[in-house]
Amino acid sequence: MSEQVIIIGAGCAGYTAAIYTARANLNPLIITGSQIGGQLTTTTEVENFPGFPEGIMGPDLMFQMQQQAEKFGTRFAYEDVQSVTKDESTGLFTVTTSAQTYEAKSVIVATGASARYLGLPGEKELIGHGLTACATCDGAFYRNVPVCVVGGGDSACEEAMFLTRFASQVYLIHRRDTLRASKIMAERCLETEKVSPVWNSTISAYKTDDKGELEAITLKNLVDGTESDLEVKCVFMAIGHTPNTSFLGDLVDRDEAGYIVRQPGIMATKTPGLFAAGDVADPHYRQAISSAGMGCSAAIEAERYLLNH
Ligand code: NAP
Repeated sequence: MSEQVIIIGAGCAGYTAAIYTARANLNPLIITGSQIGGQLTTTTEVENFPGFPEGIMGPDLMFQMQQQAEKFGTRFAYEDVQSVTKDESTGLFTVTTSAQTYEAKSVIVATGASARYLGLPGEKELIGHGLTACATCDGAFYRNVPVCVVGGGDSACEEAMFLTRFASQVYLIHRRDTLRASKIMAERCLETEKVSPVWNSTISAYKTDDKGELEAITLKNLVDGTESDLEVKCVFMAIGHTPNTSFLGDLVDRDEAGYIVRQPGIMATKTPGLFAAGDVADPHYRQAISSAGMGCSAAIEAERYLLNH
């Protein structure tokens, strides 16, 4: 028997879509993928999710969302989706995972976007201990200490300027000597007091204290190959995100950066019955609360689609 709705991805958008579709008696199935709980499981304290005035740890917030989805009857398959196809004659989707094949009348894609990191040794262990890809989430933890941002795009500039509210110094480490960011953003950033560009450079190693917290980085100059240490308490990575859409084939259109293109103002994609919510379809905000909002919208749209089909 075919499912009413399959939700792919178990982050803020996926769990919220599950809560709404479960409460609408659509008996949703979440196929979680390997990062259960999504990007918030890689952060520490979340201070900007409404309803938690004292803050909440990212993994705890996601666990509570999962429990809320379960409470209303959401079912979970702990599998990775490999492909989604649609049979135009029946209108049904086939969702193939590493373990089995499902059939569904509608699908909500909430697979998120993965922040890119440099791929240096020890990087995974450092996340949340002086390495992060979200200044909005973690900037306030680094008051009156030096930090750095890696990247030269709009995100790097935006994050560097934001971090000057807290940090004593913000080094902007870029692999070239010209920023990729838009002219206005680049100029504003370089004029900002406390932002110091470090051109033609990359991080070649992280240095931690005996508690495993970051205390310095080794910088490599890409022109002359020289290396030097720089004291920073946190590295904010801003070298782009990769939306997780590879399993969707031609069912969706993607923008230049790979994000799913939605129909204006709604969560519907170009394929009827296929909705996209959260970071996988959001190049602009990429916040937990905006993802949750998109999950809610996608659920309501899926419910209406099922009523009409
Ligand atoms: P982006 O524009 O792709 O920039 C990524 C930056 O990271 C580039 O400067 C790139 O260097 C650098 N980089 C990539 N891989 C690297 C590596 N392995 N090592 C070192 N550096 C590396 O990404 P983004 O800044 O996240 O922006 C994504 C999109 O969102 C853009 O279209 C942007 O305009 C938009 N955006 C807009 C705003 C805004 O308007 N307020 C804010 C944020 C983002 P190179 O320059 O050398 O390639």
